[in-house]
Amino acid sequence: MIKVSFYPGPSRVYSNIPEYIYEAYMNNIVSLNHRSEEFTSLVKETKKILKTRLSIPRDYEIVFVSSATECWEIIAQSLASKLGSYHIFNGAFGHKWYDYTTLLNINCEAHRYDLQELPSLKKISIPSDNIVCLTQNETSNGTQVTTEIIGDLRSDYPENLIAVDATSSMAGIKLPFKLADIWYASVQKCFGLPAGLAVMILSPNAIQKTLEINESSHYNSLSFVLKNSRLMQTHHTPNVLDIYLLMRTQKASKGIAHNHKKVTDRYEAWKELLDNQVNPGFLIKNEKLRSRTVITLIMDKESKVKEIKNLAKEAGFILGNGYGDLKSNTFRIANFPALKTKEIQQLQNFISRNYD
Ligand SMILES: *Cc1c(COP(=O)(O)O)cnc(C)c1O
Repeated sequence: MIKVSFYPGPSRVYSNIPEYIYEAYMNNIVSLNHRSEEFTSLVKETKKILKTRLSIPRDYEIVFVSSATECWEIIAQSLASKLGSYHIFNGAFGHKWYDYTTLLNINCEAHRYDLQELPSLKKISIPSDNIVCLTQNETSNGTQVTTEIIGDLRSDYPENLIAVDATSSMAGIKLPFKLADIWYASVQKCFGLPAGLAVMILSPNAIQKTLEINESSHYNSLSFVLKNSRLMQTHHTPNVLDIYLLMRTQKASKGIAHNHKKVTDRYEAWKELLDNQVNPGFLIKNEKLRSRTVITLIMDKESKVKEIKNLAKEAGFILGNGYGDLKSNTFRIANFPALKTKEIQQLQNFISRNYD
């Protein structure tokens, strides 16, 4: 039986991927030299389509790198090394970003906030040059940072660069790009693509700071990445196939407003099903904090989590394991746009049949 992966990344990919891969093979895309004219026009077109489909401001620059993990390191080595960084997080991915930054001996601080509470900006004071690091959608526990909070941060700290990890929300929900300077995501989550590529989006201010600092001791120093990107090239031989798939799937997409509505409506359906349930029930109680793209459910016994994952697997659904500290008592369900309505309904029926 074909199993549908509800794992929050890698997850189900768009169903026209096989067709696009065949197309890429037939058109020699997979063998393109990354300094060739065909490649530069592919990059140019991909960026143009991304800008319109995702509503990215015109004056922001898009660059391609390999993964969100690489983005953590790029931001640390090329910006935070000079500016210092201030990390605000409540879960494992935000924590890892902070840890990787620390490993580079960079002057950084962490503000960890509670899973069930909004981050309180009143409690923190961020030095004026620090880059502020936020995880918009914390995939490990299914929480989000709302646009309102990003807006508050922007107005409290107008001079600081703000960097946002939006790995499990970009291309799924609308993001307020204007309110921050660096946004990034790898493509195996809401973009519905195979892993091996990440999109990084930079504001004019981020570009200016990068060029001023001009850190250039790594193959992936942001200044090199940016200079190559302006030539519609990349700093290394990239995953050209994934860039092609990104271009094709976004070209076929009805745009972010459409996907935002789709994801939000589906979230509402999940809420209706699970709101008064305890086993499984939402881990995150406050709806403002709850992610719209990664649904994290808790059960009162470890054995029950094992049981639901096994039963689901037999029925043809792969559920996501809990992550980090939450591994044993929670599981996760992706609410990404590439999942089909019918598949979601089938999983919801499975849950209501077996658990109430
Ligand atoms: C998945 C994920 C990452 C890591 O992505 P890679 O592509 O494996 O580097 C980082 N941050 C968040 C929030 C994620 O969900």
